[in-house]
Amino acid sequence: MKRANDIFSSLGTTVFTVMSQLAVEHKAINLGQGFPDSNGPNDVRAKAAIFLDDQPNQYPAMMGVPELRDAVAAHAKRFYGLDVDWRTEVMVTSGATEALTASLIGLINPGDEVVLMEPLFDSYLPIVRLAGGIPKLVRLTPPAWELPRAELAAAFSAKTKAIVINSPMNPNGKVFSADELAFIADLVKRHDAYAICDEVYEHLIFDGGKHIPLMCLPDMRDRCLRIGSAGKTFSLTGWKVGYVTAAPALLQPVAKAHQFLTFTTPPNLQRAVAYGLGKDDAYFRTLADELEHKRDLLTAGLRKLGFGVATSQGTYFVSADFSKLGFSGDDMDFCRAITVEAGVAAIPISAFFEGDGPSTFVRFAFCKQDSVLTEALDRLARFIAKFQIR
Ligand code: PMP
Ligand code: GLN
Repeated sequence: MKRANDIFSSLGTTVFTVMSQLAVEHKAINLGQGFPDSNGPNDVRAKAAIFLDDQPNQYPAMMGVPELRDAVAAHAKRFYGLDVDWRTEVMVTSGATEALTASLIGLINPGDEVVLMEPLFDSYLPIVRLAGGIPKLVRLTPPAWELPRAELAAAFSAKTKAIVINSPMNPNGKVFSADELAFIADLVKRHDAYAICDEVYEHLIFDGGKHIPLMCLPDMRDRCLRIGSAGKTFSLTGWKVGYVTAAPALLQPVAKAHQFLTFTTPPNLQRAVAYGLGKDDAYFRTLADELEHKRDLLTAGLRKLGFGVATSQGTYFVSADFSKLGFSGDDMDFCRAITVEAGVAAIPISAFFEGDGPSTFVRFAFCKQDSVLTEALDRLARFIAKFQIR
């Protein structure tokens, strides 16, 4: 029998699914896959139910329902001062995952180079390769996760088509500084490239930090595809409603890819997200404040247990170094051990690297009820005490 596609045949199941399944099997608290354990805002869900009932349920417009495209444009103006024409510059997708895929396959020609930063979200690399792109990987290393500027500059060439930038960054909670963004923008412009900006955690920023879309930097407006996700902004990860904002000439090929990937996204969910994006500033502030409190709770608890934890500036996640705990084994061994023996699941950070990555860091998600985080810390404390005696 002939082999199926080599790229996908050689891949394992995503680490998020693997760890979630292991967590279910062992009745573990799942601090692995990033999803909140609340059910999202009541009013947004109620709107989805109403719109399901009293609005059309046939194929909505391929680019997305006008209400949501308009709301995405208004949101960009309100939070970032960006002027966006919803008719020609906004497209709705089935989650940011589809937006990323459509953007990559809509932009890349075989042989184009694409600059990616490790640690990286798991869908980037296979899709770059599927499109025939040549990945140029640049590593950020723990615990500080600083941008290695010389290496990044060296990764760009005349063949560079695009860079993918994820800020706030999964899995390490890094928020790129204004200075780092300016450095990246300069490279993009000098090499006549594009930037695919994965900004799904744009509203999950802590300590008074402000999200800066790369698109807002001088002369970057027409070079960026800005991607957002209602899953993160409304704690509704199962809805899979995403959106891409870009200049018309850049969005058009991406829309051509989208029309053959999913074509549309459930119309009631799109309309409910349009309502959500119009919520008052207090909603967005509270979302970040509540998560910041959870970050603090988990970070303090992990540090007390002996983990090395760099402060997460945004996202749902902290990365924690277990090398001082006396555990022998790598990050995958550690994640399996804490899932099976302690009843707490996490994600090995090496899964976000191609080849050998750092081997003593794990990612914990803190988007959970306080009582769940406290219970997870108690379980980890008992586990650590046990193996330290052995
Ligand atoms: N990018 C990053 C960095 C993510 O963490 C996620 C997680 N869901 C996505 C994209 C995908 O978002 P969505 O669920 O909207 O497809
Ligand atoms: N973004 C989520 C995470 O990093 C998972 C997304 C997925 O399961 N594909 O945990």
